[in-house]
Amino acid sequence: MSEQNGTAIEIKNPHHEGEMRDGREGHKLIIIGSGPAGLTAALYAARANLNPVVYEGDQPGGQLMITTDVENYPGFENGILGPEMMQIFRHQAQRFGSESRYEYITSVDFSERPFKLKSDRGTKLSADAVIVTTGASAKLLGLPSEGKYMGYGVSACATCDGFFFKDQEVIVVGGGDTAMEEANYLTRFCKKVTIVHRRDEFRASKIMRDRVLANEKIEVIWDTVVDEILGEDDPVKKVTGITLRNVKTDTVTKMPVDGVFMAIGHKPNTDLFQGGLEMEENGYLVVKPGTSYTSVEGVFAAGDVQDHVYRQAVTAAGSGCMAAIDAERWLEAQEHKDRVEVAS
Ligand code: NDP
Repeated sequence: MSEQNGTAIEIKNPHHEGEMRDGREGHKLIIIGSGPAGLTAALYAARANLNPVVYEGDQPGGQLMITTDVENYPGFENGILGPEMMQIFRHQAQRFGSESRYEYITSVDFSERPFKLKSDRGTKLSADAVIVTTGASAKLLGLPSEGKYMGYGVSACATCDGFFFKDQEVIVVGGGDTAMEEANYLTRFCKKVTIVHRRDEFRASKIMRDRVLANEKIEVIWDTVVDEILGEDDPVKKVTGITLRNVKTDTVTKMPVDGVFMAIGHKPNTDLFQGGLEMEENGYLVVKPGTSYTSVEGVFAAGDVQDHVYRQAVTAAGSGCMAAIDAERWLEAQEHKDRVEVAS
């Protein structure tokens, strides 16, 4: 019961953090994902007394956990290691009451409120509001050898791993802006960079394309795919070459290389929300422009899961802040509505 203008009113569905409601652990706000977007949302939500629970997922900290130096996040004049930065983000949110759970959400039901969620440990949850910050993952070719040598010469992040290929020869797979950017970046370290593209023209923007074609350390192999990544396990596990196939002539060749960088795009981590939230054709969540509102009232999205253009830590963090503010205001409006309904 609560007093308002001298009238005793009962708040519908009173919220007590973590208490069971309908056989489920109830929370005001659950955040799914723990990259810069999720942990910034957690910081703002915690400071607004929403006691957010962050389901950190299978890569706590997100994509920055596989990054070395982050030099473009404002406030860190001399750069900072990605994992270190994410630990700071987490601790800063926890200082105000955010709770991190090292589990991932396996199912969601956004068809009615409160929303129903379930974690991989079988915890049944109920949430008044949800912020989705599940990010995006680099696409891979799916070759067994690619998995085998991932981290041992195969990488999906030139910014993270380029440094390890000083004076070596590497290939970059892909023909989009990412491939151009990665290839250019790698020429800072590598002796030679070869772009392997499956068509005879790049998808990348003209300026990026021109930059690559003018770089004398970069060569392009057109109409070609990587069929296999070759390597050795002894004495050191490493990549030694690739098998290439020309898609027009079917000619197969071997090429010695030290590193293979995959730059064939990213896939938003939205499988969990199929049928539940509106998505673009490429799987990214749709949000109302200029906000974090998804197609379901009470569910908000931030970070790379709804952004395939900027994809920066700082933009993800900014949109995480927006999502927390949107969620806070929306929850406040719901409580007000409940009060009015009960009073009348
Ligand atoms: P894109 O989807 O634009 O490009 C992916 C590239 O990989 C395409 O050339 C594609 O070939 C190729 N590819 C996809 N799957 C395979 C496969 N299985 N085998 C071989 N090749 C494959 O992704 P990007 O990550 O490059 O860019 C995503 C978005 O981010 C774009 O909008 C881009 O403009 C933007 N971006 C902007 C940057 C900037 O402005 N600084 C930097 C990086 C990205 P095909 O062309 O034949 O389809």
